[in-house]
Amino acid sequence: MCGKDDGANLFDGDAPVLRALGVLCDAALEALSPTRCAGCERPGELICGDCLTRLDLIDPATACTHCGAPFGSLVCTECTPATGEPHVLRTSAIGRVLAVAVFDGPMPRIVRAYKDAGEQRLAPLFADMLLDAAVHAQASAEDRYGGLLDDADALIFVPATASAYRRRGFDHMGAIASALARSAGIPLVDALVKHGSSDQRLLGRADRKLQAQGAYEVVEDVRGARILLIDDVITTGSTVAAAADALARAGACHVDALALARVLS
Ligand SMILES: [Zn+2]
Ligand SMILES: [Zn+2]
Repeated sequence: MCGKDDGANLFDGDAPVLRALGVLCDAALEALSPTRCAGCERPGELICGDCLTRLDLIDPATACTHCGAPFGSLVCTECTPATGEPHVLRTSAIGRVLAVAVFDGPMPRIVRAYKDAGEQRLAPLFADMLLDAAVHAQASAEDRYGGLLDDADALIFVPATASAYRRRGFDHMGAIASALARSAGIPLVDALVKHGSSDQRLLGRADRKLQAQGAYEVVEDVRGARILLIDDVITTGSTVAAAADALARAGACHVDALALARVLS
């Protein structure tokens, strides 16, 4: 019924009928497969109120601006180690990093429901989380994240590899970026192409760094642009660092990163 073509231009110009049919289709789908919380399986909402309150939100007033970690007040100990190499994001072209929440509590399940189980209705919710975090950060911690959204000329997302795109059937960050670009009023530029096919989650820390280096090609003109780069989860930081370095080599004047979650090891 929902996808059937009844011919004869039955619904042409009759948006209320189409809307009513859409509501009926949604109701039928909901009856067949009720919405469950991506974080805890509770029926009702895509992310229930309980899971939302259990998100470990990162305070922009005390986060490390170099890597998004929720501690350090200014710069965390990974970014300024007493010995050894500083964090990869500290040495990349990236300006500031902000993450919405720590990758713990319900967040890992919610992200997996989106990336691996194909719950694409989460895309606009993730976009809202990113928008809320960025608006809050630039207003409440202006000395640290001022202009994060307002000064950005372009929104660019870290793209999936071709194999990940085929496996999922959609570019998971592209869908979030489209929704965020609309709500934030920042032009979306599909500027990055990722080469290589390895699933980053299966790689160790050193392998990730090696694999990410040189993995991105910039296919749009970003010269002189201030860019807000978005990604889902920052683990080692090598992915956003490699993407930011590619954008800087292509002439971007500034790259900040905004992510849904930050993994703490
Ligand atoms: Zn829940
Ligand atoms: Zn740091």
